[in-house]
Amino acid sequence: MSEEKKSLNFIEQIIEEDLSKGLDKSKLRFRFPPEPNGYLHIGHAASICLNFGLGQSYNAPVNLRFDDTNPTKEEQEYVDAIKQDIKWLGFEWAEELYSSDYFQQLYDWAILLIKKNKAYVDDQSSDEIAVQKGTPTQVGSNSPFRDRSVEENLALFEKMKNGNFEEGSHVLRAKIDMSSTNMLMRDPIIYRVLKKSHHRTGNDWNIYPMYDWTHGESDYIEQISHSICTLEFKNHRELYNWFLDQVYDDNNLRPKQREFARRNLSYTVMSKRKLLQLVEEGLVNGWDDPRMPTISGLRRRGYTPKSIRDFSETAGIAKRDNVTDIALLEFHIKSELNKITPRVMAVLDPVKVVITNYPENKEEILIAENNPEDENAGTREIPFSREIYIEKEDFREQANKKFFRLKLDKEVRLKNAYIIKANSVVKDENGEINEIHCTYDKDSKSGSGSEASKRKVKGTIHWVSIEHAVQAEVRLYDRLFTDEAPDSHKDKDFKEFINPYSLKIIKNAYVEPSLKSAKIGERFQFQRLGYFNVDDDSKTEHLVFNRTVPLRDSWAKMEQKK
Ligand code: ATP
Ligand code: MG
Repeated sequence: MSEEKKSLNFIEQIIEEDLSKGLDKSKLRFRFPPEPNGYLHIGHAASICLNFGLGQSYNAPVNLRFDDTNPTKEEQEYVDAIKQDIKWLGFEWAEELYSSDYFQQLYDWAILLIKKNKAYVDDQSSDEIAVQKGTPTQVGSNSPFRDRSVEENLALFEKMKNGNFEEGSHVLRAKIDMSSTNMLMRDPIIYRVLKKSHHRTGNDWNIYPMYDWTHGESDYIEQISHSICTLEFKNHRELYNWFLDQVYDDNNLRPKQREFARRNLSYTVMSKRKLLQLVEEGLVNGWDDPRMPTISGLRRRGYTPKSIRDFSETAGIAKRDNVTDIALLEFHIKSELNKITPRVMAVLDPVKVVITNYPENKEEILIAENNPEDENAGTREIPFSREIYIEKEDFREQANKKFFRLKLDKEVRLKNAYIIKANSVVKDENGEINEIHCTYDKDSKSGSGSEASKRKVKGTIHWVSIEHAVQAEVRLYDRLFTDEAPDSHKDKDFKEFINPYSLKIIKNAYVEPSLKSAKIGERFQFQRLGYFNVDDDSKTEHLVFNRTVPLRDSWAKMEQKK
């Protein structure tokens, strides 16, 4: 048992403790509360995996609650995208709920606060209110409107609601303590006038509740046992509890807010506001651009739900802020794709090879294993002929002993095929190599069992038969930012660190003919090049592949060095 306990994260430990103190297990209930003001990112995945993971471990319901109290930034498009992403990650919510469904209840409770003399309407501007707030080292001062009568407050709040006041002219504030050491307790605003149409409630409301007032009370309405949020809300916990105190009835469960560290990832930014800037300024091609750290970007890039869940699990839940290396995410997608993807051959930067002793009109069909990691993956046919493409960088006229690819007068094995030897090159007027002339050892066919087939040569390279190859577009991605923490620089905007080479488009790549019928979303290992998937832009007559991740494993190397 103690073994098992050790692996619990600190949130699970808190829950275990609550259960041991008598909390009924059937009362456990969680929620994931996104604001529909953008697409979900890999940071949200941490919260999703945590909350829905708790739901699974304790067999407890997890609500999806849209925290939609700010009509200026929220849209139905985002609601739809968020739902799609959570489902794709493999999770099911118990109920789909909206904070806006509670607008009436929140309003009624605000009236209650006024009646208890715990809230008042303030006629001051936000600047005046800010000045009176004081500073962390200096207490605030009371608003001149703080001691209004209950009747006057009720009348003014009603007018706010009815749209009789302009935006910014009046707010409703909780009457707490202008000298509290916690600045958030200094009479926080609970309602503001906002004459905006809401994506669900239309023009029903001229006032909208603030986050703090909404969040805790929504947790209470839904009877969420553990309301898990990120560390920046730690200071809000006192206010969360104060608001709960105002409505709590001890026949009900009292929600508990607990905080964990946000997931940060190196070489990217993780804030919807910043990601929106990239989209709006055209610095990326939309929210699902494969370079984006969004769930939809990762999906389009070829990531699997499992790789993201595994990453979230390994990266863990922390109490302190930290940055997770993006190589860990890459490690997880590589380990999974290694197990599940068929191997194929593609040449991204082709140079022509002519096998001079291979008969001119001959073609033969070679048989290759689809996936050596999976014995059930079967085999496929690859055509071979006299003229093939190999990668330019796999050939050098001269090279030192460490170059295990093709060079003049030396041999190399063509993957799944024969051993060839380079004899001469044909160059154009600029000295560029147009053709490499080779001869092949006709007895060296891979898997034929002959003596020659077992001959050891140092290198193996990939290739495609020119006559049979299919032309394709291949998109190679690099990090979107050149800096490890692009938004950590005080004097520089994060966009200054955008990597100008984050996308490289290759129009004239060639893939083996078995890929002709590849469908959008299908994943492959292009041997020696990396893992690729078929992009959403792909068409039968114009295949488009994304490189999900190269083969090189930087994470494993880093771990070894430690
Ligand atoms: P952003 O700054 O990207 O807009 P947010 O916190 O405002 O993030 P919400 O939609 O309010 O985004 O977040 C929904 C839930 O996801 C919240 O509980 C929030 O704490 C959590 N969350 C958001 N970003 C991260 C992150 N980087 N790591 C872990 N959890 C996160
Ligand atoms: Mg937010």
